[in-house]
Amino acid sequence: RDSCVSDSSDSVISSGSDSEGHVYKVVLLGEQGVGKSSLARIFGGVEDGHDCDETGNTYDRSIEVDEEEASILLYDIWEQDNSQWLKEQCMRIGDAYIIVYSVTDKSSFEKASELRIQLRRARQSENIPIILVGNKSDLVRSREVSVDEGSACAVVFDCKFIETSANLHHNVRDLFDGIVRQIRLRKDSKEE
Ligand code: GDP
Ligand code: MG
Repeated sequence: RDSCVSDSSDSVISSGSDSEGHVYKVVLLGEQGVGKSSLARIFGGVEDGHDCDETGNTYDRSIEVDEEEASILLYDIWEQDNSQWLKEQCMRIGDAYIIVYSVTDKSSFEKASELRIQLRRARQSENIPIILVGNKSDLVRSREVSVDEGSACAVVFDCKFIETSANLHHNVRDLFDGIVRQIRLRKDSKEE
């Protein structure tokens, strides 16, 4: 099976195999400028020189969560181009989603709700793990979305919520641990 990933849309979509363990496909969604690529680079360990297989806008890395390895293929391709086709594929390929907004940008928060609705439509009967992320929590003075608004939104949309700061690397690891735990939870309940 071809597990090679490049930044060409075709191979992105056809990639991913769980023949040798599980590779969880996690897709970043959110408006431009909210910090998706910054979070992805931290996850990929790009900044601390971690040996990560980064190809195009896709990050392949194993992390240990609750004493068990998890392989994640993280897609930062939402804004790669404006094709409707790619956006639809994004909505289809994920085992889990990270919807990011910036706490300093109310409109990105509203956009996050739209994305949640779109996702629900695209994957109607599935119970897909989603984490709503309020990024840029370090920018205290320019905050436009409170923690309470963020977590209330997550309750309405039946998903997890976390605030992060890519700049300070705050809560970024917790975010990815959280997504792995969510995926495992849903998987276990499906198997029963
Ligand atoms: P993307 O368009 O969603 O991929 O966002 P980027 O990761 O490219 O980030 C957009 C801008 O926001 C960049 O200038 C980042 O340095 C900045 N940025 C991202 N995350 C944070 C954060 O947590 N705090 C602050 N202060 N700036 C951030
Ligand atoms: Mg980006």
